[in-house]
Amino acid sequence: MKRKVAILGATGAVGQRFIQLLQRHPWFEIEVLGASERSAGRKYRDACNWILESEMPSNIGEMLLVDSTSESVERVGNVDLVFSALPADIAGPVEKEFAKKYPVFSKASSHRLEEDVPLIIPEVNPEHFALIPIQKKRRGWDGFICTDPNCSTIQLAITLKPLMVFNLKKVVVSTMQALSGAGYPGVASMDIIDNVVPYISGEEEKIETETLKALGDFNGVRVNPTNVIVSASCNRVNVKDGHLECVSVELGMNPSIEEVKRVFQSFKGEPQELNLPSAPENPIAVRDELNRPQPRLDRDTEGGMSVVVGRIRHDPALTVKYICIGHNTIRGAAGAALLSAEIATKKGYV
Ligand code: NAP
Repeated sequence: MKRKVAILGATGAVGQRFIQLLQRHPWFEIEVLGASERSAGRKYRDACNWILESEMPSNIGEMLLVDSTSESVERVGNVDLVFSALPADIAGPVEKEFAKKYPVFSKASSHRLEEDVPLIIPEVNPEHFALIPIQKKRRGWDGFICTDPNCSTIQLAITLKPLMVFNLKKVVVSTMQALSGAGYPGVASMDIIDNVVPYISGEEEKIETETLKALGDFNGVRVNPTNVIVSASCNRVNVKDGHLECVSVELGMNPSIEEVKRVFQSFKGEPQELNLPSAPENPIAVRDELNRPQPRLDRDTEGGMSVVVGRIRHDPALTVKYICIGHNTIRGAAGAALLSAEIATKKGYV
């Protein structure tokens, strides 16, 4: 028996990825699709502008959309878990209402920094799932809210985790973020063609705070943010999918480039040990070519679930620098929440 899943925000950039990744999933099957009140009652194929290269699954196209509002919980009926790809300004109260009844795996930023809400990257901090029983007890809910960081933070934190063995102290990151990160229709074409926009609202603050919680220590009651300084500069670039990040780190130790490369290459986590359906074999793939990684060439590594690192070298200002890229709507969004749901299921939380 597969677990039944509802997707809120199913017509958007992330919602479509959820649908794509859930096709033929061994544990989960789509039961309910939610969108705004504008789309509710319409067939998915009539309400959705499908932007993925793969075909919209025909059975999905025929499904009728429900509205994803606080009042729609009862209409969703009997599902085992909910994926939320709602805009952050909508998600706050809606996810709380759903979490009274269901496990909610959210891609929105609304609840990420709340003390009893886990901010999960399954390879990095699976021990933070222990916040779930604390949250359920404190709030008196049958379900819960489980979040993961924003897209640019996830790939950064995956590369920082193995560097912590070298006493990570400071991180300076400049991002070049893809258009699909702004959702659909996203940035106006007149703003981005022949251009780079050096500002993404709220993004730098998210990287600078969420990274610390994701890499933090769970002390049995709460997560203490890690004692690392993160400085981010974020840019929107004319690329469809895949965020590229230039990262410089200050380390308390002075490892060789070969040692840094080795810790990236050997990095694995619980998803790999548990052989979860969406787990990449290598959470970090290292490339040696001088001109890689590149979004178009590397974003789909291991189905978009690997973060690709290259150009690892000494940094004359800090200690080491490198480039990483991750697929923002897969590893940074739908794939991340799906992997969280898989490990939560395996651990008995769903
Ligand atoms: P999007 O393309 O704008 O899609 C938004 C979805 O929410 C659509 O299904 C839309 O339905 C629905 N919606 C809009 N207003 C609503 C309302 N008032 N009530 C209920 N549903 C409503 O956005 P997205 O890029 O998929 O992002 C979804 C969430 O994931 C956001 O919180 C975003 O910050 C986060 N996220 C995105 C990325 C990424 O790479 N795009 C990565 C990480 C996290 P209609 O079609 O009916 O309008």
